[in-house]
Amino acid sequence: MNYSKRPMDTVFESGAVASTQVAMPAETQPMENGLEERVSVRSTEETILAMRHWTPTLLSFRTSRAVGFRFTPGHYARLGLGDTEKNAVWRPLSIASAAHEEHLELFVVLGPGGSFSERLAKVRVGDVVRVEKASYGFLTIDHFAPGKDLWLLASGTGLGPFLSILRDPTTWRAFETVVVVHSVRYNAELAYRDEIAAVSLDKRLAASQRRLRYLPVVTRERGSDALSARIPQLIEEGRLEHGAGLELDPHHARIMVCGNPEMARELRHQLTARGFRTNRRGAPGHLAFENYWPPSPS
Ligand code: NAP
Repeated sequence: MNYSKRPMDTVFESGAVASTQVAMPAETQPMENGLEERVSVRSTEETILAMRHWTPTLLSFRTSRAVGFRFTPGHYARLGLGDTEKNAVWRPLSIASAAHEEHLELFVVLGPGGSFSERLAKVRVGDVVRVEKASYGFLTIDHFAPGKDLWLLASGTGLGPFLSILRDPTTWRAFETVVVVHSVRYNAELAYRDEIAAVSLDKRLAASQRRLRYLPVVTRERGSDALSARIPQLIEEGRLEHGAGLELDPHHARIMVCGNPEMARELRHQLTARGFRTNRRGAPGHLAFENYWPPSPS
């Protein structure tokens, strides 16, 4: 596989660009779990520009981006797949691309039995997807009290928002060091390794290998340089701090967690017990979580 020499650029099959504004009234649509979901108020039709498969079920894709679509690194977008806005199936997907890039890049896993996943599996370069005009989320560095070290704890596709944060020069002005921990089941799921390594050398970003510590975690097979236990256990045993060469201390560490909801719950308890706290009534905290993973397969 050929890798582009541009930092944080991935290998994609590419295609043409288009972006069309579509305005629709608010409405609700039944979901598979019996609940009703609000369907897009306003969305744009975007074109799939490129796709990259990391494994048969793990992929990244790029879409065109409407001129008016704004987001802060760490936000997620809502994507719809379907012939019309009304019959589209919608799913929140974290944005992996940088805020200044012309395209949107999404990192996604295809879940068994999910209607969004079934449709996404058939999507090809040149096809149209719908993107809500608003972006969402609280996983942004401006929610934190000033700190020295930023810890980004991800499982699976929870890495997505952290890629956008890593690709943002603001992050590197706000923090001295950034630690990226990516927990996956199998080695092949350690997506974006080369792109993360490139950030450490990019003059607009980390500009030094000492400022970016990348700790891969592989839990279901042996990895050559990866840690081998779940993140809460690695914290408990001091192995994460040892691997990063930094202390997990609320005085200077700020932590974001994104991924498996059970992992997020465990980390919330564990880190709260160590003195970390989330934002409260506008008072900036040390800890932030993203909870966009839906309860049923999608
Ligand atoms: P996953 O089960 O989330 O595992 C990813 C990593 O998280 C593994 O290292 C796993 O360790 C670890 N992990 C799992 N539970 C944990 C916990 N309670 N505490 C700490 N670490 C934990 O696997 P995935 O491949 O990312 O996703 C699996 C399925 O989830 C997908 O096939 C998809 O259906 C669904 N999913 C849906 C969405 C969505 O937005 N709808 C997003 C992501 C995933 P172990 O190997 O020890 O379990």
